[in-house]
Amino acid sequence: MKFIILLVFTFCVNALMLRSVKDKITEGVIQQIREQIKNPQSQYYHSAYNRLAYYVDTFGPRLWGSENMADAVDALYKDIEKMGFDRVWKENLGEITSWMRGEESVTLFEPRQIPQKLNMIGLGWTPAGVVKGEVEVVHSFEELKEKDVKGKIVCFNFEWNGYGSAIAFRFAGPVLAEKAGAIGTMIRSVASVSIASPHTGMTDYENIKYPAVAITVEDADMLDRMKKRGQKVVVEIKTGGQQYKTTSDNVFAEIKGYKYPDEILLMGGHWDSWDVGSQTGANDDGGGVIVCLEALRILNSLGIKPKRTIRFIAWSGEEMGQNNNGAFHYARNHGKDNHIIAFESDLGSTKPYGFGITAGQQFTQLVTYLAQEYLTGIGAERIYPNDGESVDSGILADFTGTPMLNNRIADNENHDFYFTYHHTAGDSMWMMNPEDMDDNVVAIASIMYLIADYDGPIPKD
Ligand SMILES: [Zn+2]
Repeated sequence: MKFIILLVFTFCVNALMLRSVKDKITEGVIQQIREQIKNPQSQYYHSAYNRLAYYVDTFGPRLWGSENMADAVDALYKDIEKMGFDRVWKENLGEITSWMRGEESVTLFEPRQIPQKLNMIGLGWTPAGVVKGEVEVVHSFEELKEKDVKGKIVCFNFEWNGYGSAIAFRFAGPVLAEKAGAIGTMIRSVASVSIASPHTGMTDYENIKYPAVAITVEDADMLDRMKKRGQKVVVEIKTGGQQYKTTSDNVFAEIKGYKYPDEILLMGGHWDSWDVGSQTGANDDGGGVIVCLEALRILNSLGIKPKRTIRFIAWSGEEMGQNNNGAFHYARNHGKDNHIIAFESDLGSTKPYGFGITAGQQFTQLVTYLAQEYLTGIGAERIYPNDGESVDSGILADFTGTPMLNNRIADNENHDFYFTYHHTAGDSMWMMNPEDMDDNVVAIASIMYLIADYDGPIPKD
């Protein structure tokens, strides 16, 4: 009896000790990640910023299927090959149809005495064309129905209430105006703030038949003022967009889990970008790709082996929205893999303070526990349930029900900082901050490690 009591007692003490030792190891790993990245003498210090700057400066904007994109994919792949991961590979998407921009302009002919060029940018998938006509300004889809726009050029001058409502005008506006008889469309840029900056983005690629462009917030307001005072407004729009056949690849790197190698935590961002400036795609989404890559690189080079597999992906083709892009290709080809969670960073790389998660209640509780237990010291412990969705991981989730995670970073509710620069020439290294990028690497490496190395089974709901 005494022996049994002693045995039970010893077992309990051992179990408790094991747990506390284990916790110390986990804590130590998180601390080690942080100390390595935040130490100015370390090779990891500002390495995310410097690596991103190299790609942005060397290859320029990475429109899906373009030569720039192909070169940037090759360079990324070759660099990753040298990083010593367990596995590095590419997956070709096969033949894809993409789009290239040509010569384009908007010229204001009336009421100006001398024709005035307006800052503009064609919307993605807009075909080549030239239209000239009187402008009708509308502020909503209801107003489009009420006004006679036959033979006119419609200018959508909507109010900015966040991206969700604004992209309806960019995506559906041009085609709806065409159905109402318009000959061309200008939209007010989908932007939170403007310094005469036109913002592109894709419009309805299946149905767009005529020139559809964005003009600046300032000029949309000007045309609106002209119409309100009764002036006739005449513009000419020229676009030169063309579709063509090409191809592209998703790029991968992996650290194999030592205990549950078939359980996969996916993480990444999209490597393609818009094409509108010399550095476009630094923030959207080169930064997202590189902070994830650096997170995997630090785990790997510090020899931190988690129980589960962590797989990095640089998705190809998010911006062009096709159903044969990198996200669909991955979901179709890897839908049967056992994905534990898919992490995506695609809302910028400003200072992180936590994570959004879209998962079942028990899994959400587990991630909340892990974040609060281990990430308070790095200020990344806040968890936002039912708010982890992103575009590329969302496609995998649609196919497989995989839970989703994203990084919560400093910005306001409407992401006004992000949408000031989004899809413009202003998306450049100038808006990136090396310290903030380091903090993202720390936060992402830590949360991925915590989930990947969790001892117990991951709850399915
Ligand atoms: Zn993006």
